[in-house]
Amino acid sequence: MLVFGQVDFSLIEPMSKPNYRVIVVKDSVKVTPNMQRVTFTGDDLADFPENYESGYVKLLFSQQGQAIGDKEQVEKGKYLRRTYTVRAFNREASELAIDFSLHGSKNGPAATWANSTKSGDTILMGGPGPTKLVDNQADWFLLAGDMSGLPALACNLEQLPENAQGYAVIEVASEADKQDLKAPAGMLIKWVVNEKPGENPEALMEEIKALSWKAGTPYVWVACEFGAMKNIRDYLKNSRGIESENIYISSYWKFDRTEEEHKVDKRIDAGAPPFIQVLWDIKAKCQKLLLLKK
Ligand SMILES: Cc1cc2nc3c(=O)[nH]c(=O)nc-3n(C[C@H](O)[C@H](O)[C@H](O)COP(=O)(O)OP(=O)(O)OC[C@H]3O[C@@H](n4cnc5c(N)ncnc54)[C@H](O)[C@@H]3O)c2cc1C
Repeated sequence: MLVFGQVDFSLIEPMSKPNYRVIVVKDSVKVTPNMQRVTFTGDDLADFPENYESGYVKLLFSQQGQAIGDKEQVEKGKYLRRTYTVRAFNREASELAIDFSLHGSKNGPAATWANSTKSGDTILMGGPGPTKLVDNQADWFLLAGDMSGLPALACNLEQLPENAQGYAVIEVASEADKQDLKAPAGMLIKWVVNEKPGENPEALMEEIKALSWKAGTPYVWVACEFGAMKNIRDYLKNSRGIESENIYISSYWKFDRTEEEHKVDKRIDAGAPPFIQVLWDIKAKCQKLLLLKK
């Protein structure tokens, strides 16, 4: 089993007994040109737990890529799930925010929906899954991510101790996608602009390689595209000797693959037996064909 770092089950394991909530779009605004923040409300958020920022939720879409807006539709048939991060939750206001990175002509059902949703729209949400937070006891911190990992990375920065030291290396699709982030003064934020996300899996790693390593043991947190993740993982493990317990590293999407296909690739990366890989891949390809037929 090729496991290095905290094991991230968010894609490769089904959520046990999903408790789907109907959530209602309150508003939708652009944080930056390629990042859409959708704020949800609704009665079903009444029992949504607090302190799950950085944890994941699953949003439900039909096989044809339409948002599933009520529980009846789920019982009728199969659906696609898309994984997103709880960026913020305010129980008093009953508001939950999710930041969706938009990926232009490559938008799948989730990004397409986020780009056009309006107040009053509903969608089903499963979760939340566990938070993805660094160990705040570490000597220093290295956080890295692209626009899919930025919401969880930002949650991490916000909760670091005031005296935290280290780096946040963030890949964005354009200069205008750099955001103002709340972070301790000792955390240096470095932006990498990659106009073709996924097509240059070296970009994030090159910036990480150029960092001057600090004294002591860091906690490393990485969430980005699959190819980029693999490069960074090899570098951190083999050249920097980072131990498994001091790292969270996960791919949040894969270039030219839908979430269903990416899930298959993650299982293969984690060492699944070949015959199962073939079956999963066939299933993911069928799901993609249905999407393309819509
Ligand atoms: C634990 C976890 C948390 C996540 N949190 C967030 C989050 O808060 N915000 C967020 O934006 N994403 C997040 N993601 C990533 C998100 O789930 C994927 O990007 C997802 O594939 C988007 O679904 P889609 O329907 O738009 O595209 P899909 O149907 O899955 O894919 C369609 C096409 O879009 C491409 N694509 C998918 N994602 C991207 C991307 N980010 N950039 C460029 N091309 C892409 C695929 O390669 C494919 O060619 C998270 C993933 C995980 C595992």
